[in-house]
Amino acid sequence: MDIQEEAKSAAEQYRNVISVNEKIKALKKKVRDGTADIEDATEYASLTGKSLGDILTGQIMVLFPEKITYEEARELIGPVTRENYQSVANYVKAVIRGINQADGLGIAALVSGYPENRVEGLAKALENMTVVSKEIMKLWQSFETLSMSTVDDSVRKNIDFRNKLGFEVSVIREFHPEETIQSKHHGKGMWECPWCKSVAGVYNYEDVKDTGNDVWRRHNGCHCVITYKSSEKTDVIYNGMRARAPDNNTSRR
Ligand SMILES: [Zn+2]
Repeated sequence: MDIQEEAKSAAEQYRNVISVNEKIKALKKKVRDGTADIEDATEYASLTGKSLGDILTGQIMVLFPEKITYEEARELIGPVTRENYQSVANYVKAVIRGINQADGLGIAALVSGYPENRVEGLAKALENMTVVSKEIMKLWQSFETLSMSTVDDSVRKNIDFRNKLGFEVSVIREFHPEETIQSKHHGKGMWECPWCKSVAGVYNYEDVKDTGNDVWRRHNGCHCVITYKSSEKTDVIYNGMRARAPDNNTSRR
């Protein structure tokens, strides 16, 4: 078996599937029209990530029903995972460019890099399966989560950038119920995750900026949307240095 060929075929299948998916097409149109927001980017990442999961789990099950090594997994999932990353990164970049423009800010739209560590983690999880065909479905949603991480990490990068420029930034975590497995087959049943409900809210970035904060965490199947808003500049920027603007109470009398 030529894994490189199989990896190419996965990438081709992925391209085909996402080019005919009506929901994905509608989301692509929104970004071309300049009307897409972070919720759309999150949905785009979720839908393309599901396709990624379908294709890769299917392919692994056929090619490696018993066992897959870390190296084989890396080689097989690498190219298509990169392709997914690129399209999600382009999408979120366009959305953030629009947000910056709407806020009247001539600042760059930032995107996170290829999630190398997460992809390695997935390859390790694949290697750790005892019988691939029995356990692979447990990892199906991990590909969706991987895809969504590019939106979350990019959003966070832009929040951090604004914060460093002296803006006061609010992080907004919106609760979105999840589709249950049954609802996929019977068209009903939304799961209202208590953890996601409890972590939803509006936070001052300074209070939640540590990497491990729950606001930034996502479990498999989680469809919450993490977005942001920044208020007027509270600080004055001198030559790129951050300095506190005098407030009314302490200014000259
Ligand atoms: Zn949840």
